Amino acid sequence: MRRKFIVGNWKMHKGPADADALADALKRALAGRDASVDVGVAPPYISLPAVVSRLKHTGILVAAQNLHTEQQGAFTGEVSGEMLRQAGVAYCLVGHSERRQLFGDTDAIVEKKVHACFRSGLLPILCVGELLAEREAGQEREVVTRQLAAALGKLQADQVPSVTLAYEPVWAIGTGKTASPLQAQEMHATIRGWLEERFPAFVARTTRIQYGGSVKGSNAAELMRMPDIDGALVGGASLNAEDFLAILDGCR
Ligand code: PEP
Repeated sequence: MRRKFIVGNWKMHKGPADADALADALKRALAGRDASVDVGVAPPYISLPAVVSRLKHTGILVAAQNLHTEQQGAFTGEVSGEMLRQAGVAYCLVGHSERRQLFGDTDAIVEKKVHACFRSGLLPILCVGELLAEREAGQEREVVTRQLAAALGKLQADQVPSVTLAYEPVWAIGTGKTASPLQAQEMHATIRGWLEERFPAFVARTTRIQYGGSVKGSNAAELMRMPDIDGALVGGASLNAEDFLAILDGCR
């Protein structure tokens, strides 16, 4: 009952012309294919208008990579959820490990950003995941459930399934090291169990949990076969159409 959801996070790659070309390649490749999987892309802010326009009426969803906690104000250089909504964006990543590690997004800020998404009518893709040292210390469950509690704790139960969760072990992001399907499944089951304990049963049953961390065409199928893995958040392999499409093929 949970449709798989594959999202390409383009990070700080693809200015407007390159982003438009990649969006066009995806649009052409996916036209006429069966739409059994939800597909989205997250270009940098500057390229969002080009990609939103290119992907209009295609069913390919557009996400931003970040948003500010406030709707407007004296925050030079920032972009609000309300602005993203006006630009035609549907989803927004929140709490990506690069934001947490490099730009000071604490659990408290991540929570505010989740709420900012809801205020603006955007659907959050909430990233959680442990560092290598935390996994080596056996703290991965504690870290991930702490991040979940901070970000989702104050949501109403019926809001939670609108959040796509992305489990992204930090040691697997951009490193070429993927969590094994069993390692990933284990954490996804922990996350679903956490949802089950805190919310009515429909929440755990319907909330999608993506895996992220060096997903590529060669490992997507075995990850996507796991019962609690509902898609992928893809960095490097989303930067060219062929590699990204190979991941979508792995979902069939
Ligand atoms: C990411 O940045 O969310 C990610 C999963 O990157 P990569 O696929 O390159 O590991």
